Amino acid sequence: MSNSKKSSMVSGFYKLPVDKRVDFVKDFAGLTSEEEKLFSSFLDIETADRMIENVLGTFELPLGVAVNFKINGKDYLIPMATEESSVVAAASNAAKIARIQGGFKTECSKPLMIGQLQLLKLDDVAGAAQKILKHKKELLELANAQDKILVKFGGGAKDLEVRILYSPLGKMVVTHLIVDVRDAMGANAVNTMCEALAPMIEELTGGKIRLKILSNLADKRIVKAKAVFDKEKMGGEDVVNAFLESYTLAVIDPYRAATHNKGIMNGIDSVIIATGNDFRAIEAGAHAYAARNGQYTSLSKYFKDKKGNLVGELELPLAVGIVGGAGNIHPKARLCKKILGIKTAKELAEVAASLGLAQNFAAVFALSTVGIQKGHMSLHAKNIAVMAGAKGDQIDKVAEQLVKEGNIKLDRAKEIVGQL
Ligand code: NAD
Repeated sequence: MSNSKKSSMVSGFYKLPVDKRVDFVKDFAGLTSEEEKLFSSFLDIETADRMIENVLGTFELPLGVAVNFKINGKDYLIPMATEESSVVAAASNAAKIARIQGGFKTECSKPLMIGQLQLLKLDDVAGAAQKILKHKKELLELANAQDKILVKFGGGAKDLEVRILYSPLGKMVVTHLIVDVRDAMGANAVNTMCEALAPMIEELTGGKIRLKILSNLADKRIVKAKAVFDKEKMGGEDVVNAFLESYTLAVIDPYRAATHNKGIMNGIDSVIIATGNDFRAIEAGAHAYAARNGQYTSLSKYFKDKKGNLVGELELPLAVGIVGGAGNIHPKARLCKKILGIKTAKELAEVAASLGLAQNFAAVFALSTVGIQKGHMSLHAKNIAVMAGAKGDQIDKVAEQLVKEGNIKLDRAKEIVGQL
C-alpha cells in the first residue's frame, strides 16, 4: 500500500458518479474490495454499544474526499466527514491553487501533552513547589511505570514544571507533567499518569490534590502549515490586496476572528472526525491557543512575498492520534487513515493543518471576491429541493431554477416540484 507516487490532482472529480469516485480512491490508496465495501456500510450496533452508553443506533455524516493536496512533496487524498456544503469543494480548489507554487509545507513539534495536578490546602506554597521539583526524577519514574508501552516506543513522561497560581480560595501549586505521547492523542495515557502521581505529591507536600487531568491547551504540541497562493491564479494584485484587507479584520477583531477560525476548523474537524479523533479536544485547544496573548485573534497569518503572491501560515496545537481512542475501533476511521496513507500522528497533524489552511484561504478568498453565498447556495438549493420533495433528476432541475431566480426558498421549491 503506497499512494505517495500517485497524483491526487484530478479535475471534474465532483462531476463523477459516486462509484467512479470510489474507484479513483480505491486505486489511489490501494484499497481491497472488502475495504471498498466499507464506504456504504454502517457502524454495527454491537460496536456502537461498546463505544458509548445508552445506545439507540448510529448517526451518519456524509464522507467526502478533498483532492489536489500536495503536502511536503507528497500527494494526499483527504477524507472529510462533514454536514456542511461547499467545504470539500473549497478545500480541493484551494489545494489546486497552492499546488502551483509547490503545495503545503509543514513543521511539527514533538507530541508533548500536558497533564495538570492541582494542589491545595498548603501552608507553604513555595516550599511545596520546591519539594515537587526536588523529587522530579522519582515522580517521572513513577509516571513512566504506568505506561511501559509508551516508554518502549520512546515516549513517556519527560519533564515536570510547577506553577503557583492565585485564586479566591488562596494560593495553589499546579504541577504540569509533560508527556511525549508518540502516536497517541494521549488523554488516557496522561490522565493515568497524573492519577498515579497524586498520592506521592500529597505525601511530599502535605497538601491535597484536587484535579488531576490532561490540559487541552496542548501548546507544546504545535503544528505549522505554510503555502504560497499564486497571485495570477487568484486574479491579480487587487484580489491579493482585497484578501489581505479582509484578513486584517480577523487579526484585530474577535467577532471576525471567531468566524475566521471557524472556517479553519471546517477543514480540520472534518478530517479529525473521519479518522476517529476527538474533535472537541482539537477545538478547545485551537481556540484557547487563539487567545493565548490575552485577545482572541486569527490562528492564521497572511502576507505578500516578493513577487506579490499571497503567503498563508497556520499555527495551532493538534492533539491527534493514530493509535488508541475511537480511531482504532471504528472501521471507517481505519479506512480513512489508509486513504491518507499516514504512518504517524505527526503526519496526520500536518495533513490536518494543511487542510485547515486551505479551508481558511478558500473562505477568505471567496469573501474577498464573489462572496461566500455563491458557492454555498448551489448545494443549499439542492438540499432545499430534496426538502421540497424533488426526487432523482428533479433535484438538479429544481436547484438550478432556484439559483437562477436567486430565490432559494422552500415554498418556491415546492411550487417548482409541483410544476415538474
Ligand atoms: P488510549 O489509551 O486508547 O491509547 C494510548 C495508549 O496506546 C498509550 O498509552 C500506549 O500504551 C499505547 N500505544 C501503543 N502504541 C503506541 C504508539 N505508537 N504511540 C503511542 N502510544 C501507543 O488513548 P489515548 O490516546 O491515551 O487517549 C485518547 C482518548 O481519550 C480519546 O478517545 C479521547 O476522546 C479521550 N479523552 C479525552 C480527554 C480530553 O481531551 N480532555 C479526557 C479523557 C479522555
